[in-house]
Amino acid sequence: MTVAQEAYRIYVDGEWAEAADGQTFVSVNPANTDDVLGRFPDATAEDAERAIEAAHRAYPAWAATPPAKRSEVLLRAADLLERRAEALARELTREEGKVLAASRAEVKRAAATLRFYAMEGLSFAGETLPSDDPHALVYTVHEPLGVVTVITPWNFPLSIPARKIAPALVTGNTVVFKPASDTPLMGLRLVEAFVEAGLPPGVLNLVTGSSRRVGLPLVAHPLVKAVTFTGSTAAGEAIHRAVALTTRTQMELGGKNPLVVLDDADLDLAVDLAIKGGYELTGQACTATSRVLVHRAVHDAFVEKLAAKTQALHIGSGLEEGVDLGPLANGEQLETVLRYVRVGCEEGATLVCGGERLSAPPYDKGYFVRPAVFAGVTPTMRIAREEIFGPVIAVIAVDSLEEALDVANGTDYGLSAAIVTRDVERAQRFARGVQAGVVKVNRPTTGNALNAPFGGVKKSSTATYRESGRAALAFFTQTKTVYLG
Ligand code: NAP
Repeated sequence: MTVAQEAYRIYVDGEWAEAADGQTFVSVNPANTDDVLGRFPDATAEDAERAIEAAHRAYPAWAATPPAKRSEVLLRAADLLERRAEALARELTREEGKVLAASRAEVKRAAATLRFYAMEGLSFAGETLPSDDPHALVYTVHEPLGVVTVITPWNFPLSIPARKIAPALVTGNTVVFKPASDTPLMGLRLVEAFVEAGLPPGVLNLVTGSSRRVGLPLVAHPLVKAVTFTGSTAAGEAIHRAVALTTRTQMELGGKNPLVVLDDADLDLAVDLAIKGGYELTGQACTATSRVLVHRAVHDAFVEKLAAKTQALHIGSGLEEGVDLGPLANGEQLETVLRYVRVGCEEGATLVCGGERLSAPPYDKGYFVRPAVFAGVTPTMRIAREEIFGPVIAVIAVDSLEEALDVANGTDYGLSAAIVTRDVERAQRFARGVQAGVVKVNRPTTGNALNAPFGGVKKSSTATYRESGRAALAFFTQTKTVYLG
């Protein structure tokens, strides 16, 4: 399917505009690169500057807007997303590649996120403190920070921006938002909903374009008081080095998430969790299961069942019925996955199934790969330590829970970790000992509740501020203590 190439614009200070130098780029369907979703401005440093200054000018009035009015805008934007849910889900699948059911769930999640923060914004308050002086009233207020830069990846192009922008706006900050260059349309659709919901000019600005051009200008500007970023650890480190000492940062980064399967596990459940965690979103989730640490007593049976189920998965365009796995999101991801499959083989792991590119019709115009299972993996191999961000599962045999914990904790990452066992005591020992921000028992490594804090340890995130849930509001505010009387 080839559609007319629509030209979209950035949104700065309440106006839709071209990039300052007129440069553009296209967003394409990773299942069929002939299908172009549209042409987008490749914004410049000058555009970034204009957006930041607009957000700075809009800040005092938005910060002074009553919280109930700010919440109303979020609720109206949620209504608009819901009204357009099916069209948005189809565009999301075309732009990012995930299967339609996952896109529908993501649109629903984005709308629910706006509603959640609309409500939280109404009750997020300081406290009155007991005072030693009977004449003094001592209380705290949470004040917004100012201009916040939001930079997001392509794997959840609607729900991740929603969970950053909604708490930023509802607490009275203004925002400059740069979506990933693979999914600018989804970023734009979210901004459109906010604009139609009645957000005043300058409060939310959209800058599409390559991080090479606008990355640094958007984070290193002195008027930017906070940067909330989700993406690779390498980009997070670059941003961390670029920002001013006084700029607050929130970084949600990579993962190498382990699923531990103990000898008492329900093996069918363990296989289902590995498939769901490892291959959902074609393995392109920060919480994806990329290592399965299996007790030696059940190792061979587990690998056999996992390989059989992996080989039975249907791969195709996410718009088709009955497809389990869509394409990888771009050519670079495809190259990365194929490279790691080669690395795994060179390191001496056993490629049990998958790992090859699908290039015959109907796959020839997209970035399709067959999901891979490696067995015989040792903890020091690169495929056991480095984030691949694709449908590749490395199975590592272990002899005990203690060894599983050692291996689970043996990478630079610490985002999500899961265990499959019927033994509550061992599950609790795992939860206590594993270095991860999120721990699951008999559940997949992927997924998090809207109202629960989300984030990692080590190189998976900066630990100070959690995303998601009520905890997210703390990142976007500072506490002032007032002594009255
Ligand atoms: P990425 O290459 O780091 O890009 C993420 C975003 O950052 C994009 O908008 C990108 O813009 C921008 N960017 C890249 N380098 C930058 C720089 N030096 N300065 C400012 N902005 C910069 O990551 P990705 O490939 O889109 O996403 C995959 C990664 O995200 C994986 O590592 C995954 O684990 C991580 N992730 C983490 C979470 C979490 O919550 N922990 C959730 C989802 C994904 P361009 O697109 O223009 O380059």
